[in-house]
Amino acid sequence: MPGRRRIHVRGIVQGVGFRPFIYRLARESGLKGMVRNTTTGVEIEIEGPLPSTERFIAAIRGQAPPAARIDGITADSLPYRGYADFSIRESKRSRGFTQISPDIATCRDCLREMEDPADRRYEFPFINCTNCGPRYSIIKGTPYDRQRTSMREFRMCQNCRREFDDVADRRFHAQPDCCPACGPTYRLYSITGREIAAREPIKETAALLKKGRIVAIKGIGGFHIACDAQNCETVAQLRRLKDRPSKPLAVMVRPGLVPGLVHATKAEMKTLTSPSAPIVLMKKKGDRLCAQIAPGNPYLGVMIPYSPAHHLLLRQIPYLVMTSANVQDEPIVDNAQEVRQRLGSLVSFYLDHDRSIENRCDDSVGFSLPGRGFSIIRRSRGYAPLPVELPVLVSPTLAVGPYLKNTFTLATGRAAYVSPHIGDLDNLETMRFYGDMVEKYRRWFRIEPRIIAHDLHPDYLSTKIARSMDGVKKGVQHHAAHFTSCLGENGITGNAIGIIFDGTGFGTDGRIWGGEFFTGNLQEQTRVAHLQYLPLPGGESSIRKPYRIAIAYAYALLRKRLAPAGDDETEIIRQMIDTGHNIVHTSSMGRLFDCISALLGITTEITYEAEAAINLEHVADQKTKGHFPFVVRDGRPMTIEVEDTLRAIVGAINKNVPKAKIAARFHNTIAEFSCNVANRLRKMHGLTTVCLSGGVFQNRYLLTLMIERLEKDGFRVHTHRQLPTNDGCISYGQVLAANAETEDKMTLQRPCTNTN
Ligand code: ZN
Ligand code: ZN
Ligand code: FE
Repeated sequence: MPGRRRIHVRGIVQGVGFRPFIYRLARESGLKGMVRNTTTGVEIEIEGPLPSTERFIAAIRGQAPPAARIDGITADSLPYRGYADFSIRESKRSRGFTQISPDIATCRDCLREMEDPADRRYEFPFINCTNCGPRYSIIKGTPYDRQRTSMREFRMCQNCRREFDDVADRRFHAQPDCCPACGPTYRLYSITGREIAAREPIKETAALLKKGRIVAIKGIGGFHIACDAQNCETVAQLRRLKDRPSKPLAVMVRPGLVPGLVHATKAEMKTLTSPSAPIVLMKKKGDRLCAQIAPGNPYLGVMIPYSPAHHLLLRQIPYLVMTSANVQDEPIVDNAQEVRQRLGSLVSFYLDHDRSIENRCDDSVGFSLPGRGFSIIRRSRGYAPLPVELPVLVSPTLAVGPYLKNTFTLATGRAAYVSPHIGDLDNLETMRFYGDMVEKYRRWFRIEPRIIAHDLHPDYLSTKIARSMDGVKKGVQHHAAHFTSCLGENGITGNAIGIIFDGTGFGTDGRIWGGEFFTGNLQEQTRVAHLQYLPLPGGESSIRKPYRIAIAYAYALLRKRLAPAGDDETEIIRQMIDTGHNIVHTSSMGRLFDCISALLGITTEITYEAEAAINLEHVADQKTKGHFPFVVRDGRPMTIEVEDTLRAIVGAINKNVPKAKIAARFHNTIAEFSCNVANRLRKMHGLTTVCLSGGVFQNRYLLTLMIERLEKDGFRVHTHRQLPTNDGCISYGQVLAANAETEDKMTLQRPCTNTN
């Protein structure tokens, strides 16, 4: 007896070739009915014998297009109606909106066509289909169709139009569809703006790169600065010109060459070649590339070509340094005019195309943590603007985010739209980018925030922006936001312990926090323990000079002078501490890492954020067991005192114990005292769940140690994965904390949907 089923599929199911997939699946299964987009996903009706309809529903999940993400499928049984065939229907009209797909890496089918000399898109650098191509980066408005993208400028030719209209074609309703006859074109220019007449600008670009030139290349979310990764002279030149002496650079290589550069696990290869195609940090191997790409670093950031132009380029030259084109910490450059104005001293040529980038986004970056999957540390291209689910309902909220590594989040119901990585809110360009993106997100996702969540720091530009907005303002402490962010991402609505190891965050006592233990939940968070306060001379300016921190901590804790008497800087710092003048007190874990790194003489001055801590991690001999002494002093909050730790480290240095051993034991010490505190909290409150968050956990060695150590004592340990453990997760956490005791109970009663 045939029946009718009505199926709703929620998730990323629009702009990813989902309806044609359903159409083909239904045809193959001999089922009749229809499929259409709705504001919350896709609605399907099918009619046929029960076993076939059941198989069909199972196949939706099992065979969905690679870029689709299914969040839920529901199926209802209805009376038989008698469909004549299976068809794709017009979208159900409504005031809502649909999810916006992130940009998707070039698919295999498109690659095959691009390599086929008989195909009309042979070597066409803008080839795409319903399964792949630009999405987010070309969107001007919603709903997503060609008229509201930067493909609007390109009138589809007859051949493309035929594909676009044909439900059986794999380019059915592929909005950016185009071909050499009707699509955009690449052109090569000298930095002065003079076009280099070239029949094949991409091949010409490769030739320049092979000659050791530095070229800016327009891609999907912005320009890259590219050079030959095997030409060490050029890499050194790029570092010099970019004023970036040691921060690691990412490389782009063909997938087949990845195993020659890094020890890539199966899981890492899978992430690397996924539709999101992020940069994956993997264990280096061999010396095929210049050491200067990631000096002293056991990891290498690798990505594979993700646009057709990248594929064409990488066919000519196997290894490219590909770093975001920007000036210092400003947003990535997205147009030729800016390349000429801002990068003139850095590149000599640029490869441009005439499809405008509407929404810039950097490459995403992450690493894979054994047993836990891919952990993102910069969430942009390939991920934004997908919503991150919230474990509870929230009122319409804008969380303006922190100062460094800013993202903001616009949220409603159970959907949190976390912006792509924006950067440090300390320059005009970034502030402009920020304001622009907030406006766009409000428009696209139709959220009028009633709550404005912000950091407690009164001087942050983001705090000032929040104050100027309409809505109920809610301040959220930085590390409380780290805690709620990790709770939220892992769907924990009950009580837990939060261990937050971080660089800098403004505390409720006006001091700088960053080595914090909380207990609590999404509603309230109590600071129950912290690293003891230590004096930071000259406040934040010491962050760039870890040796000043070492001098200060050694003097404050051990009354020890690290330099012979008479050294000016030491004397000044000593006076600052004795008088308390120009001193900031901090419980920052990041600063403790800086101190130890400088004490060991590993890094005494830094050129990029967290450099000293990163180098300390890389020096550590991971096989060394044992830890240094420490004291956990009772109190509310408890304090972790590191006087004995520091004394032991100085003693070990004086005894010429190898740095690798000292660095390892220091890491072990942190894991040990964390576990000590967690055990006390378990005794007091019966808590067995631990959340780890904060920038310090980008340290993979420490993160692994902490998980192992805490799990050994029976704790359930949660970490970030979809969101960065650094300040990129703050805005999401602010949303949750700010909604804790909202008076808007009405809103909270509303049913949960991904739309408003
Ligand atoms: Zn494709
Ligand atoms: Zn065409
Ligand atoms: Fe932080």
